[in-house]
Amino acid sequence: MAARIVDGKAIAAGLRAELKEKVEAFGKTGRTPGLAVVLVGNDPASAVYVRAKARQTVEAGMRSFEHRLPEDVSQDQLMRLVETLNDDFAVDGILVQLPLPPHIDAAALLSAVDPAKDVDGFHPINAGRLATGDARALTPCTPLGCVHLLKSVEADLSGAHALVLGRSNIVGKPLGQLLLGENCTVTIAHSRTRDVANLCRAADIVIAATGQPEMVRGDWIKRGALVIDVGINRIEENDGYRVIGDVAFDEVRDRAGAITPVPGGVGPMTIAYLLQNTLKAARQRLGVAAI
Ligand code: NDP
Repeated sequence: MAARIVDGKAIAAGLRAELKEKVEAFGKTGRTPGLAVVLVGNDPASAVYVRAKARQTVEAGMRSFEHRLPEDVSQDQLMRLVETLNDDFAVDGILVQLPLPPHIDAAALLSAVDPAKDVDGFHPINAGRLATGDARALTPCTPLGCVHLLKSVEADLSGAHALVLGRSNIVGKPLGQLLLGENCTVTIAHSRTRDVANLCRAADIVIAATGQPEMVRGDWIKRGALVIDVGINRIEENDGYRVIGDVAFDEVRDRAGAITPVPGGVGPMTIAYLLQNTLKAARQRLGVAAI
């Protein structure tokens, strides 16, 4: 039987609608949550993401602040901007769009963001809070979106063997922590892992976040497994490009129990959780419980 296709676009739209109501309720405090986005250079894909984030922030009833800087901006200028945003009461969340130009020390910049405003969840304090199960953690958005999609198919993930392909600080590692929190048995694979195909065959859940186009093949997947495809790979075609994931969708859909498409799976969830994190940061800064 063909897999259920998990419609991330529709699930994210539902999340944003719920969020809008929560933002309205938060308005009783006299404040509107604000998200500042810092975009450096002219990368077309980043510009598209930033536009989508700004539009959805405003649609959710929050304030959007955009800071566009030229490619040759200095580390000092960026550090000063981050300090200004840290001190700005109207700003609850700060997002520095990646990738940054090679002359910028991204780790130093991300560590300069106030952990209370770190809506990407990349600051070492938030990574530590996630690892220790501290509810105050601002958690990376893509892993939050992946777990939400899994739970939309299987409400209780407890006891499942989850294989995460990729160990980045942005996706793989935080996802491993979240899945442990859901009582999964977690394996994290990476480029040095031996026999990834056989590890996949043993997994109830496979989450691919490698940036390797369609590396997960149909015969790697146990029948009925849940498959989440985080990958975004731009493949050039005659008159432009096509986006494909890290999973060979047409092969895997015949074996999996459920699968996310690319595009329209994980991507929309990432932005929805960015907005959720901005509201969480605003509540925590004001000491307001969930209303
Ligand atoms: P990184 O390049 O930072 O990490 C890739 C990871 O995959 C590394 O840990 C690497 O291992 C591992 N890897 C590479 N090749 C293999 C292989 N053959 N077998 C097993 N593991 C392998 O990427 P990100 O984590 O930032 O992103 C991963 C993918 O997800 C990309 O396609 C990216 O575009 C996409 N993405 C999508 C988002 C969304 O919203 N949908 C958000 C963020 C990312 P090693 O550590 O050994 O190098």
